[in-house]
Amino acid sequence: MSLEAEIERQVALAAIETLAGQDRPRGFSDLFLLLEETAVGLIERHRAEFPPPTPLHCKDGCTPCCFTKHIVMTPPEALFLLDMIELCGFRLAVSQEAHSSRKGCPLLSKKGHCRFYAHRPLMCRAFHSLDVEACKKGVGVPGNEVPIWPPHFEIYTRMQAGLARGLMEKGLAMTKLDLRPVLALETPTALLWDIWLNGGDPFTTARMDQ
Ligand code: SF4
Repeated sequence: MSLEAEIERQVALAAIETLAGQDRPRGFSDLFLLLEETAVGLIERHRAEFPPPTPLHCKDGCTPCCFTKHIVMTPPEALFLLDMIELCGFRLAVSQEAHSSRKGCPLLSKKGHCRFYAHRPLMCRAFHSLDVEACKKGVGVPGNEVPIWPPHFEIYTRMQAGLARGLMEKGLAMTKLDLRPVLALETPTALLWDIWLNGGDPFTTARMDQ
């Protein structure tokens, strides 16, 4: 089995284990911390063996990719992020920002920092660049290729796929969601968790496929 397939399998198992726990929202929060630690360790290992041709340019405060039209996320990532936003007391402000016509991610501060960098979706962690000038021309713009280092992207996207696989196996709705409409939701997060953990889909307005 390839390392990528093994990552997917292990994350699927960890997600199923999380569902078996009593305090599931807390369990997912712990799971995401563990995924980040694991991803950083795997990336370091790859970097030591097969270093990228040029350094990665990404860091907190570098934001061209935060202007991408869609950031795809899974329901537990969405719920975890909404939990953190609510905990910090920003839920209403973020929801209003998501409804506004201002370009870019509603979590970007006016100074150009992700206000929830530590809790950002897996896709935000997956995305990176070897050429910041290419990013400035527009991430996701047709015809503009942003060079990446494949192991970095693969590790996070396999984690996201593993999460989806494990939770779908347990009958939970694992629709692909879009970050901005997720942030525009006004329903309390505890209720969203409840609906989702009971097999419902509280994210119909935030689905990528609608
Ligand atoms: S969540 Fe943070 S990193 Fe992701 S697009 Fe929004 S501002 Fe950027």
